[in-house]
Amino acid sequence: MATLEPAQLVVKPDRERSLLRRHPWIYSGAVQTLRGTARPGETVRVCAHDDTFLAWAAYNPASRIVARVWTFDEAAAIDDAFFARRIADALSLRRMLLPAGLGAWRVINAESDGLPGLTVDRYGDQLVLQATSAGAAFHRERIVSALAAATGVSDIYERSEGDVLELEGIPPARGALLGAEPRSPIAIDEHGLRVAVDVRAGHKTGFYLDQRDNRALVRTLAPGCDVLDCFSYTGGFALNAALAGARSVTAIDSSDEALAAARDNARLNALPDGAIDCQRGDVFELLRRSRDARRSYDLIVLDPPKFAPTARHVERAARAYKDINLLAFKLLRPGGVLVTFSCSAAIQVELFQKIVAGAAADAGIDAAFVRRLGAGADHPVALSFPEGDYLKGLLCAVPAAAS
Ligand code: SAH
Repeated sequence: MATLEPAQLVVKPDRERSLLRRHPWIYSGAVQTLRGTARPGETVRVCAHDDTFLAWAAYNPASRIVARVWTFDEAAAIDDAFFARRIADALSLRRMLLPAGLGAWRVINAESDGLPGLTVDRYGDQLVLQATSAGAAFHRERIVSALAAATGVSDIYERSEGDVLELEGIPPARGALLGAEPRSPIAIDEHGLRVAVDVRAGHKTGFYLDQRDNRALVRTLAPGCDVLDCFSYTGGFALNAALAGARSVTAIDSSDEALAAARDNARLNALPDGAIDCQRGDVFELLRRSRDARRSYDLIVLDPPKFAPTARHVERAARAYKDINLLAFKLLRPGGVLVTFSCSAAIQVELFQKIVAGAAADAGIDAAFVRRLGAGADHPVALSFPEGDYLKGLLCAVPAAAS
């Protein structure tokens, strides 16, 4: 029987450069032609116009990113052993860099772990998988087997959902891939804080693991403070502040379910009733109201959702970031601290800093940033893939006395 030759994706002569620098995306505009046929997710041989090998990639004609690179090694095959190797590499990185005894962490961080479109988070003995590329969806079964073999975990749940799937033309999928439906919620331990994670109905895979180190930082800052946690979700920052002995903690989120979970989490940590004042509403509106009521805080956290889903949204997003940061600076007491984030990949760190600086200037405050913040070690960013550096934050301090 003749073996089927893989299809060849030929890149335009002037569009090879990013691949030679090992960037894993091939945009449709960079493609000269496809020789042969490939179904979505199948592996194609990417080559230059003179047939020089460039990469093995997963093909997706439905996406603007028409192929995502699995490997730049011509000798590699995209088979069970390939996924086992990539997963083993990801695990050993985390074993080296993460503190022992963590209850939850990101096992696979997509492109940055050499597995485009594949995100895997671990909550206790449960893995939650998100496949947002045609390639990851195509190889789902062998990925599940490789994950089970490498981690020893026997429960793997899928949460492949969200707007990004539409851009990729992939149908959403949710359900157990291995083992039973998860007991929900799953209680995890984050630096001594107990958090119940609903992997079936929560946001993303259930919890925002990328903020773990920054939540711990807020715990060190919060003792004795009046704290405002904006966009609190299930209470991550607010719970840490309350546990640390903040004088008061207010959490704002637009989601009733998120705030109900935050209250449950407060009980799970034996915090007294009312330790966190949960307010449902729009942060923009509630911050304005607090400003008008002349309320003030010692510590404010701003952790909004992605205001700029793509580069086209940057300008509008910049205005929204400026707006909340300006309001937050106005609500801060002298000597107060603002912990402010953007999780928009399209807003680069320099721009974010400029936005926050503009907000401070408009508020008439000489703030300084004392630390740049980002995601933890379980969210590596491949140097060839700066798009992976989506979470950026600033810890800003306001002088205690105006000059
Ligand atoms: N800080 C959280 C994660 C925040 S995720 C943690 O550490 O776990 C962003 C949250 O913002 C979501 O819970 C979402 O419900 C909420 N949200 C989105 N838009 C909002 C708005 N305009 N006002 C209030 N909350 C909003």
